[in-house]
Amino acid sequence: MNKEVDTSEFKSFFKSVQGNEGDKCRYNTRLDTYRCGCQHNCSYCYARSLLHFRGFWNADQPKAADIRRIARKVNQLSPGTIIRLGGMTDCFQPCEQEQRVTYHTILEMNRRRVGYLIVTKSALIAEPEYLEILDRSLAHIQITVTCLDDKKTLTYEKASPPSQRVLAIQKLQESGFDVSMRLSPVIEEFMDFEMLNSLDIERCVVEFLRINTWIRQWLKEVDFTKYSLRHGGYCHLPLDEKLKILDKIHIPEKTVCEDVTEHYEYWRKHVNPNREDCCNLRIL
Ligand code: SF4
Repeated sequence: MNKEVDTSEFKSFFKSVQGNEGDKCRYNTRLDTYRCGCQHNCSYCYARSLLHFRGFWNADQPKAADIRRIARKVNQLSPGTIIRLGGMTDCFQPCEQEQRVTYHTILEMNRRRVGYLIVTKSALIAEPEYLEILDRSLAHIQITVTCLDDKKTLTYEKASPPSQRVLAIQKLQESGFDVSMRLSPVIEEFMDFEMLNSLDIERCVVEFLRINTWIRQWLKEVDFTKYSLRHGGYCHLPLDEKLKILDKIHIPEKTVCEDVTEHYEYWRKHVNPNREDCCNLRIL
C-alpha cells in the first residue's frame, strides 16, 4: 500500500509517511495492527513488492502488534485526529479472527475519541461484533474491490470474495456509515463496469495500478504496454488512459487517490468533490 519504505517502515506499527505520497495524503499517519506480511498476498501489493526481496514479507504469519503498546500510543493522540488503520497490511486479514488486535485497537480509539480510516479487502468488518463497536462519528471505511468475479479474484488476491465485499459495503451504507468502495487498483481488464454500475454503491475512491518489476512478474493478464509513464520508481498509465477508465465508472460520488503529481493536481481541480481531501471522508 505505501510506496516509500525505509528500514523503520516495517519495524514500527505506527508511522507518518513523508515524501511524495505522504505530502498528498491527508491521512498519512498509519497504525498497522499486523505487519511484515499480509495473508491476502495480492499480486499487485506495493508493500509486498518492497518487503519481499528484503526477506521481510511472510504472508502465512504476519506479526501482530502488541495491543498494550498500541493503547499507549493511542493515549498520546489528540481526540479528533484521524489515523489510517492498515497502511502496510490489511487490518482485517484472517488472523484477526484469532488475534483480535484490530478489534481492541478500535475500542482504544473509541475511548480516546480518535478517528480511524479503515482500508480493507475483508467482509469481516461488517460482521455483527464489529458493527457493534464501530462508532459512526469516528469510523471511515473503504472496502477495496478490484474485480467482481469471485473465481478470477482468487487467482491474484486471497481475500474475501468480492461478492461478500460488495454485500459488506451495502450493509455499512444502509447502516449509515461513512463507507466507500475503494477501486484500488482499478485494472481495466479485470473490471466488469456494467455490473459495477448496477450495484447501487453511492461512493467510491479510485486508485490506478502502478507497476514495478515485481508486480509485473506476479500480475498476469494485464497489458503493461500502456503503462508508459515513469514516476517515483513505478510505471503508470498516462492521464488520457486514466480518464477513459474513469469515464466508465458511474458511481454517483467518485474521487481519485493519485501518486503522479500532475495527475493529482488534475483530479483535485476537475474531479474530486473535496479539493482538500482526496479520500473524500464524511466528517461529522
Ligand atoms: S490486502 Fe493490501 S496489504 Fe494485504 S496483500 Fe493485498 S494489497 Fe497488500
